[in-house]
Amino acid sequence: MPVPEPQFDELYREIILDHFRRPRNQGKLPNPTQHAEGLNPVCGDEIVLDLAVRGGTIEDIAFSGMGCSISQSTASLLTERVKGSTLEEAEQVVAGMNAMLVDGAPPARELGDLEALQGVAKFPVRVKCALLSCKVLEEGIDEARNGTEAKETNS
Ligand code: ZN
Repeated sequence: MPVPEPQFDELYREIILDHFRRPRNQGKLPNPTQHAEGLNPVCGDEIVLDLAVRGGTIEDIAFSGMGCSISQSTASLLTERVKGSTLEEAEQVVAGMNAMLVDGAPPARELGDLEALQGVAKFPVRVKCALLSCKVLEEGIDEARNGTEAKETNS
């Protein structure tokens, strides 16, 4: 059964298509500190994230995977948004995405260009596509936190 395509405002559509056609931060990192991946079986989306976290800051991030335009463009937008952010800031971005797409809240300021995905909220099936990279990022953040805690306990 075909999944319905969300309709977007022209500007938002342009941003999403641009990130789908020319994804930012696509690939692998040479020396990631964290690696996380996730699947959205409903749509067949797959997202793999490499993170380089140092001193509580996401110094570098890259994604790979495959799937629909929403899942891939969200990963591109999300990695662009959180690159150089602290783990706390990245968590706020993920929380803002959940609020916008699950609760239907207006886009939080932290989201930046990710607000282009607001129209996805009307399509519950596609919300999973957009939230996939957010879930994977959350996992990476958790791992980075635990890694830091482990190190501090040892020293
Ligand atoms: Zn999808």
